[in-house]
Amino acid sequence: MKKRIAYILLFTLICFLSLIAGQDLLLETRLQNQGLVNIHTLAPDILVELKYSTTDNFLNADTYGELENCYLQPKAAVMLKQAQENLKKINPDLSLLVYDGARPRSIQRKMWALVVNTPSQDYVANPDRGSVHNFGSAVDLTIATNEGVPLDMGTAFDYFGKLAQPRHEAHFLKEKKLTRQQIDNRHLLRDVMTQAGFQAISIEWWHFNAVPVKEARSQYQIIE
Ligand SMILES: [Zn+2]
Repeated sequence: MKKRIAYILLFTLICFLSLIAGQDLLLETRLQNQGLVNIHTLAPDILVELKYSTTDNFLNADTYGELENCYLQPKAAVMLKQAQENLKKINPDLSLLVYDGARPRSIQRKMWALVVNTPSQDYVANPDRGSVHNFGSAVDLTIATNEGVPLDMGTAFDYFGKLAQPRHEAHFLKEKKLTRQQIDNRHLLRDVMTQAGFQAISIEWWHFNAVPVKEARSQYQIIE
C-alpha cells in the first residue's frame, strides 16, 4: 500500500514538473512564433540579465519563470546590435547589459495582479492597453564592464524617484546628488542608443523605445 502511495506521489510530482517546464517552454516558443528575435542570435556579446526572471526587482517576484533570453521585434533587435557596436567602438571593455525587452501580456497580467491597489500600481502598465514592452519594441538596459559589473548610473534600475529621471539631471548635479561621472555614464548609454535610432524617455534612464508609442500600437500586435 505504501509503495502504491509512493508511486502516486511520484507520478503527481512528474506531472507537476512537466507542466511547469511545458509552460516556460511555451512562453519562449510563443515569443518565437510571434516573430520575435532572441537578441543573442544577432549579437551574442550583449549581456542579458532579465530582472523579472529573478526576485531582484521592485515586485520581489520572479514573474518570467525559466525565460532567460531577451526577445525583441526584429527591427528593435537589429538596432540594439547597432547600439552595442557603437559602444564597442568607443570602449571595447564595455557592453550593454539588458534588463528587459519584450514582455508578453501574460506576464504583464501577473505583474498587474501584484501591484493593483498598491502604491506601485502607477509603475506598471495596465495589461489591457499594454506598454511598448508588450509590443516587443522597448528595452531596459545599462552599461557594464565585459565582466558584468554595471557602471554607476546614480540609481539602481527601477528606482522610482526623481533621481532616476533624466529631466532632473542638471538640477541634481547642481545639488551634488548626482556626480558628473554618473551623468556621463547615462550620456554614454543615451548616445549609443539614440545613435542606433532608439528614443530615450525623460522619466527613466534605463528605458528606450525602438519606435514611438503610437507606431508600436499601429504596427505591431500585443505579444500574448
Ligand atoms: Zn522599460
